[in-house]
Amino acid sequence: MRKKKMNKCPVCGGQLMFEECCQYSLVHFITAHGKMSKKAKRRDYGGIEGSFIYCSNEKCDFVTDTDYKSEKHPDIQIFEDEQGFWVERRE
Ligand SMILES: [Zn+2]
Repeated sequence: MRKKKMNKCPVCGGQLMFEECCQYSLVHFITAHGKMSKKAKRRDYGGIEGSFIYCSNEKCDFVTDTDYKSEKHPDIQIFEDEQGFWVERRE
């Protein structure tokens, strides 16, 4: 088992994406015409609902859940520390 910096997809070598699912509202105001304003302010509730990692290659099935575990590739383990993401592959 070797720990490697995770800078590309551990399955195909493609570009990895990190997606954060956030909680926020779009706050409109009611205009003089009694309609909802087109402009809206974003009110952030701060809490991140979860984040996951996936491969940008459409032909690749690498995707993690919010615990950074991949159901289809259980041999791949992902860790995060202050230096970034690390990947370890079980032999
Ligand atoms: Zn991939």
